[in-house]
Amino acid sequence: MSLWPAKLLGAGGTVRLPRRAILIYLVAIVGPTLVLLYLGLQSVERQRRAIATLSESNLRLTAERMATELARRPEQLAGLCLRDPDLASLRLPALADDRPELFRPVRRLLQQVKARHPIADLFLVLQDNRIRYPRLSEPPPRQLDEYLAQEKPTARQQFAELFEEAERLELRASRPGDAVTAYRRSAELPVSDTLRAVALARVARSARKANQPHVARQVYVVLRARYADLYDPFHRPFGLIAGLELFDLAGRGRPLSADITALANDLLRGRWELSAEQFDYYRAQIAERVDRPVVEITSAYARELTLTEALQDGLRLQRVPRTGELYPHSSPSGDQPYHAYATLSGSAPEEGHILVLAVDLNWIEQQLLPQVATDLGIDSDRVTLAPARPRGKRVPAATSVATVFPFWELSLTSADDRGQWWGEMPAFVGSTLLILAVLVLGVILLMRDASRQLQVGQLRTDFVSGVSHELKTPLTLIRLYAETLSESPRLADHERREYSDIITRESERLTHLIDRVLEFARIDRGEKQYRLVDGDVAPVVTRTVTAYADFLRRRGYAVEVALPSTLPQVRFDPDAVAAAIVNLMDNAAKYSGSAKFVGVSALVTPGDVVVTVEDRGIGISSAERPSLFGRFYRGAGSLGQGGYGLGLYLVRHIMEAHGGRVEVDSEVGQGSRFRLVFPIRAGAAEPSSIS
Ligand code: ADP
Repeated sequence: MSLWPAKLLGAGGTVRLPRRAILIYLVAIVGPTLVLLYLGLQSVERQRRAIATLSESNLRLTAERMATELARRPEQLAGLCLRDPDLASLRLPALADDRPELFRPVRRLLQQVKARHPIADLFLVLQDNRIRYPRLSEPPPRQLDEYLAQEKPTARQQFAELFEEAERLELRASRPGDAVTAYRRSAELPVSDTLRAVALARVARSARKANQPHVARQVYVVLRARYADLYDPFHRPFGLIAGLELFDLAGRGRPLSADITALANDLLRGRWELSAEQFDYYRAQIAERVDRPVVEITSAYARELTLTEALQDGLRLQRVPRTGELYPHSSPSGDQPYHAYATLSGSAPEEGHILVLAVDLNWIEQQLLPQVATDLGIDSDRVTLAPARPRGKRVPAATSVATVFPFWELSLTSADDRGQWWGEMPAFVGSTLLILAVLVLGVILLMRDASRQLQVGQLRTDFVSGVSHELKTPLTLIRLYAETLSESPRLADHERREYSDIITRESERLTHLIDRVLEFARIDRGEKQYRLVDGDVAPVVTRTVTAYADFLRRRGYAVEVALPSTLPQVRFDPDAVAAAIVNLMDNAAKYSGSAKFVGVSALVTPGDVVVTVEDRGIGISSAERPSLFGRFYRGAGSLGQGGYGLGLYLVRHIMEAHGGRVEVDSEVGQGSRFRLVFPIRAGAAEPSSIS
């Protein structure tokens, strides 16, 4: 028999569930909850958007404040620097005398000021809208006459003649050996150091042509040692030229001498007032000789000159700044963006020049930026300064961008707000899922409960109709035979006896049936009470078994009884024990099949008294066993047998009330063995014998 009573199953075999209850549940609970969830989600989303908008606009405001500060402070600091009192004494050489070496005091002064103001990267001096300092290109070559003009008249004449003769020998007559002597003689005249150095350089040049390298070397050594800071007519420092020549004369491939390193240091530290063009040229010369990339041969001075070259094209001021005014000027393009401030310097307009301060962008980025961030209470990790992006390029949503000078983009990210929102997200999703899970669980439980209720209801209905049906048969028989007895006076004696036997048997069945139903009703209502007494259960068992065995034997059953006359003391209700035994014997007979055998025995195990009822009938499958003792359960073999699935339920209830249990062993087709187990009371006596 199926676990689901047939009437519970629909046409397709599926369980018909109480749709109304589920519908009500869905409409009254699930529906509103889902609507509330949806509204909650919407409100959270609105909140998220509001927070995002708010934090983005906050972010933008903060970024703009930072950018403003980053523009304001450099201007302030640049103003301070350009108003440095020392700068008031800045005097440029006259335009007519535009020799780089005359700018040495200017350079020294500007370097002193620069050392006091970390914002200053480079000073430029503009005149007539062109850069005068630092020099970008060298002045035009000087003529020998210019040098001679400063010499004493006697020496000047002699020098001019000798020098001219030497040039003729060297350049036109191609007699460099003689030229060496002639140049040397001119160098020995009492002339200025500059003119002597010019002549000595010619001695060395001719000596090289005359293949006298040792002579050339000697002369270059003198030039490098004694005349290093003088310049030749092409504004080439003798020390620098001689240094390179000495290196070349020593032959390439030899290990680098200390001389070339010293030479490079002189150049990089700005020993000579060179133009930017010359500086680049000599730097390349040294790089080639020491076999290293030019970019590695660098210094602050080298950088200044490079920056000056970069500014050359960009720095075209739209107007001349007024005295005391700071005129900002930026160049966003090129490899080297810069930001500069120009101011008018010098009192009289004709001698006036424009002093330009290029801002140290590294200092701004590395020192000023963190400082501004700290002052504004912003974590400097959130701030980045990068070259400006091309227009229209998308910026991440969590970043706000402002421009600092025209070439920098300041981005400010807000890790906090977003992080906070995203941090709440799992909790929200989690609780939503939890609510949904609870709802689903609710539906499942409701369905299960409803189906169980339905099942029990159905079982009760079946039970009532079954009982009524069972009542009908004996009642009909009783009425039929009673009528026969009263209406047929000439019945034979044995017929009369048989009919009254039937009436007696059927009324017994009726009583038994009603007893069972009443018993069940009492148990079901929780009103069943047992009158437990301590004692020997053997007499009760013997009496019940003997009476029922007679009954069964009369119906053709083989009944085997093995009971001891006494058993150890147990606690029991005699009526209930009798009912349990009758139920088991009744089942044994009912399900004994063709074997028609019922066996009853009792024995004592350590701690228990066990009464066993067995048959050799149809048996019970292991799948059925767990449900066997449930209410209204009727097994596969019960078809065609009277009963309501209450017998074993009552037995279990009785045994539990006794503190004992009912057990079953069974094999399909072989028979079953039910055992009633009563716990022995402490101090009970041993059984004596078996009857
Ligand atoms: P019923 O009134 O149907 O006999 P019970 O509660 O006494 O109800 O038994 C429940 C079911 O257990 C029966 O329908 C039957 O299938 C199975 N059963 C009980 N006793 C036996 C037995 N001795 N042999 C085989 N099956 C049994």
